[in-house]
Amino acid sequence: MELKGKVALVTGSTSGIGLGIARVLAGAGADIAMNGFGDPAEIEKLRSDLAAEFGVRCAFVAADISDPAACAAMIESATAELGAVDVLVNNAGVQFTAAVEEFPIEQWNRIIAINLSGAFYAMHAALPGMMKKGWGRVVNIASAHGLVASEHKAAYVAAKHGLLGLTKVAALEQANTGVTVNAICPGWVLTPLVQKQIEERAKTNGTSVQQEEHALLAEKQPMLKFSTPEHIGAAARYLCSDGAATVTGIALSVDGGWVAQ
Ligand code: NAD
Repeated sequence: MELKGKVALVTGSTSGIGLGIARVLAGAGADIAMNGFGDPAEIEKLRSDLAAEFGVRCAFVAADISDPAACAAMIESATAELGAVDVLVNNAGVQFTAAVEEFPIEQWNRIIAINLSGAFYAMHAALPGMMKKGWGRVVNIASAHGLVASEHKAAYVAAKHGLLGLTKVAALEQANTGVTVNAICPGWVLTPLVQKQIEERAKTNGTSVQQEEHALLAEKQPMLKFSTPEHIGAAARYLCSDGAATVTGIALSVDGGWVAQ
C-alpha cells in the first residue's frame, strides 16, 4: 500500500488505459480522482465500484481537458474533495488518421489540444500544489508514437513527440523539488481507441477483425500480443514508487519491442 495517503488524478479514466491505471493505483492504496467522458450513470457506477473494490476514496472530476479553465477547475475540485493532487496521470487522448494533405484542420487542432495542450494545462494547475508539499509524481501517457512515426497519424505523432519534450522540460525544472515527471510509451493496447482502428481496417480491407488484430501486431510489435491497461498501470505505479525517486524525465516503453527495431 505504498500510495496510501496519496491522491492520484487520472485524466481519461472512464475507459481503457486510464481506467486500468486508476485501478492499479487504487490497488496501491491511492485515493482516486477520475475524469473523462461517458454516460453519467455508467461513470457513477465505475466510481463507486472502484471505491468499494479497493477501499479508497474516489471522486469524479468532470473536465474537457482541452479547455484550460476546465483543467484548472478539475485540479481545484479534486483538491477540494480529496485534499490534494499528489499524482497526476495525463492519460486522456484521441486519434484520427489521414494523410497530411487530407488531414482536416479541425482534427489537427483537436488532437493537439487534447493530447498535448491538455497535459500542459493540467501540469500548469497541479504542479504548484506538489511543489508546496515537496512531493509529487507526474506521469504522461505518451506512446511508441512519441518516439517513432507511422503514416497517417500526423497530429497524434506530433502531439506525442511534443508530450515527451514537455515531460523533459518539466523534469529539469522540478529536479530538486521532490516532484518527478516521466512518460510511459505504450505500444498496442486493445482499448476502444485501437478497436476502432482495427474495425476500420477490416472494413477497408474486407477482412475479419481477428485478421486485422494480428496484422496490426505483426506490423509493429515483435511480441505478438497486446499489452493490457494493467501493464501500463504497473509502469505508472513503479514511477510513483519510492524506488523511482530519482527517475525523472524518462520515456518508459511498454511496447512488446516496438521501438527496439
Ligand atoms: P480510450 O478511448 O479507451 O480512452 C480515452 C479516454 O480519454 C476516455 O476516458 C475518454 O473519455 C477520455 N477523453 C477523451 N477526450 C477527452 C477530453 N477532451 N477531456 C477529458 N477526457 C477525454 O483510449 P486508450 O487507448 O485508453 O488511450 C488512453 C491514452 O493512451 C491516450 O493518450 C492514448 O494516446 C494512449 N495510448 C494508447 C495506446 C493503445 O494502444 N490503446 C497506445 C499508446 C498510447
